[in-house]
Amino acid sequence: MSPILEVKNLRTVFKTESGNVTAVDGVSYHVNEQEIVGVVGESGSGKSVTQLSVMQLIPNPPGRIEGGEAWFEGKNLLEYERNGKEMRAVRGAKISMIFQEPMTSLNPVLTIGQQLMETLQLHKGMSTAQAHKRAIELLAMVGIPAPESRVNDYPHQFSGGMRQRAMIAMGLSCEPRLIIADEPTTALDVTTQAVLLELMRNLVRRLNTSLLLVTHNLGVVARYCDRVYVMYAGRIVEEGPTREIFANPRHPYTVGLLKSMPRLDQPRQHRLLPIEGLPPNLVNLPPHCAFLPRCPYGTELCSTSPAPGLAAVGAQHAAACHLNIEESRT
Ligand code: ADP
Ligand code: MG
Repeated sequence: MSPILEVKNLRTVFKTESGNVTAVDGVSYHVNEQEIVGVVGESGSGKSVTQLSVMQLIPNPPGRIEGGEAWFEGKNLLEYERNGKEMRAVRGAKISMIFQEPMTSLNPVLTIGQQLMETLQLHKGMSTAQAHKRAIELLAMVGIPAPESRVNDYPHQFSGGMRQRAMIAMGLSCEPRLIIADEPTTALDVTTQAVLLELMRNLVRRLNTSLLLVTHNLGVVARYCDRVYVMYAGRIVEEGPTREIFANPRHPYTVGLLKSMPRLDQPRQHRLLPIEGLPPNLVNLPPHCAFLPRCPYGTELCSTSPAPGLAAVGAQHAAACHLNIEESRT
């Protein structure tokens, strides 16, 4: 099976007053056809910058992609001109992005229908009548009631959950090969979150697309993702099939994340233990493992050796830890 998207050794740096921030530091990952892949990590670990880099949406300045490749349909997206025709075609139709804040991505002065129709006419060459019909179908598909009339509503007439549904409809409108959803439901209440994630999973299956799901919630990963990448301080520190990562986490950071989140498979009174300490300052990353100051398993080897790279610890499972700890999660 060949991947839909394959990112190799991506590196993105922001030049700031306090120094160079290496937000993405040698990140490689891939998404296969029909796969739902999770990217998880605490806030500030580089999840969003990674995705925005692949789409060439990093504000420059202060940001710059300093290296790497992003292969999609036989082409390296990072070789395209940032705002050239090819890159715009990718962003408009082939890979769609769904963000956390629909209000900032929806245009307040256009109706939901006008915004859907605009994309359909521009990228699918539909007539006004065709686009109007399709817009209603799309709204129905994402569960908006009375789509024939709601299609004429403005974004402020929709509730938060409905706006996010509209964003999903927009993301699906051009039948993309890949959907990148960056914390798509984080701003919503838990019930609406679950409904929308379920909806996205069903649409991915039905429409034969793939989904890269960025989240800081491991519960969401456990439920929806086939594979997962764990990010820390701009790097991937563990990757593997979701089941494998949950049953047998091999990076202390992943172990920490698992202990800090509520689990459906454990008794309710199970105590949640937050990971102590704070993520590192990305301006002055140490030469050794960036997790060492917070790591309960750190040894002298960890402080004297360069930061470890990913090493295989199982089939499709890799971790970037000198110790590759094994631990029962009790
Ligand atoms: P995540 O999505 O995992 O929460 P981000 O990818 O948004 O994290 O950010 C990673 C790091 O990149 C942040 O900690 C921040 O320091 C840096 N960063 C992001 N955007 C900018 C920017 N416009 N200017 C400077 N630094 C930035
Ligand atoms: Mg983010």
